[in-house]
Amino acid sequence: METKQVKAYGKESVTQPLHEMTISRRAIQPHDVEFEVLYCGICHSDLHQIKNDFSHTMWPIVPGHEIVGRVTAVGGHVKGFKVGDLAAVGCIVDSCGHCEYCEDGIEQFCDEGVTFSFNSEDKVSGGHTFGGFSKTYVCNEKYVLKMPSFENLAAAAPLLCAGITVYSPLKHWGAAPGKKVGVLGIGGLGHLAIKIAKAMGAEVIVFTTSPNKVEDAKRLGADEAVLSSDAEAMSKYNRKLHFIIDTVSAKHDVNTYLNLLRPDGSVVLVGLPPEALEIGAFNVVSGRKSFSGSNIGGIAETQEMLDFCFKHNIVAESEIINIDYVNTAFERLEKGDVHYRFVIDMASLNQ
Ligand code: NAP
Ligand code: ZN
Repeated sequence: METKQVKAYGKESVTQPLHEMTISRRAIQPHDVEFEVLYCGICHSDLHQIKNDFSHTMWPIVPGHEIVGRVTAVGGHVKGFKVGDLAAVGCIVDSCGHCEYCEDGIEQFCDEGVTFSFNSEDKVSGGHTFGGFSKTYVCNEKYVLKMPSFENLAAAAPLLCAGITVYSPLKHWGAAPGKKVGVLGIGGLGHLAIKIAKAMGAEVIVFTTSPNKVEDAKRLGADEAVLSSDAEAMSKYNRKLHFIIDTVSAKHDVNTYLNLLRPDGSVVLVGLPPEALEIGAFNVVSGRKSFSGSNIGGIAETQEMLDFCFKHNIVAESEIINIDYVNTAFERLEKGDVHYRFVIDMASLNQ
């Protein structure tokens, strides 16, 4: 297959720092859109993958799956995009398109396995996919989102993963007026969960391990914020919450949070701690509670989320960085020193 050489930032092993490299992208196919990457968010999943936390990292890796850009070329059969349009890509860049889950718009659960925008087997060109820490991106127009004209386009990039990952379960589990929704962990996902759940009309109670985020959670729109080490403050919420979105990236005790649920409530895990989590039987049988999970969202729902956030003026609180700061950014993300998302200005990677 014809390819194009593209400048990118990636690495060949766990121990290496990310560095400039050249990758091959497929030349555009009839249904493909090519765009120049303008901004790319940094998600904790990028950090898990460059550390090989899940033991399935393909080397070399080029991270980045919160990608916003401007179209530079379209294939002959492309109908929805033209050169100069804004475009965006999140986590999904391909799926079978015909299984019952693809037909239902939940491509993330495709029977044949979804292709992710980076670190995933690429069924079109062979090899594996490279993410948005690069000058350009190419994919089938079915998986390219229409980016609304956000005033702060850079700060909107994190919606492509962090935004949809919390929007989808908030909608599925019914965030709405009269519902008390917990958000566990105030990082990239958690801070957007606060904003989106509030825009859906729910009452939002936040649980954090960081004393300095208690007040900040209220600035972000939370009705209440609780330091999770404060047992007395925690007990105030026993049996009070309809459901909780758990965004924590490391091992933690979910039983504490099952106790805060009303009967029939659910702790919905979206964080990806590499270690298994333990659940006490009585914490779920008593109260018919569930411990569940959710993975990103389908393409149509991602478009719906972008339009919802545009309408409600929701973007991420972002620290915009140049590409040469990216290794420091990952170190800071690992330490929890980010308020609340790093976004790379890709103009800093010169072609
Ligand atoms: P992040 O910005 O690092 O936020 C994670 C937050 O979790 C931290 O800010 C911290 O919040 C809390 N936390 C971290 N370590 C903790 C610990 N040991 N105990 C308790 N709390 C801790 O990460 P993110 O980008 O939001 O991603 C969060 C997780 O979701 C990651 O595992 C990521 O891979 C995963 N993810 C999943 C999906 C999906 O589709 N399911 C999509 C995207 C990301 P406080 O300081 O407030 O305690
Ligand atoms: Zn992500």
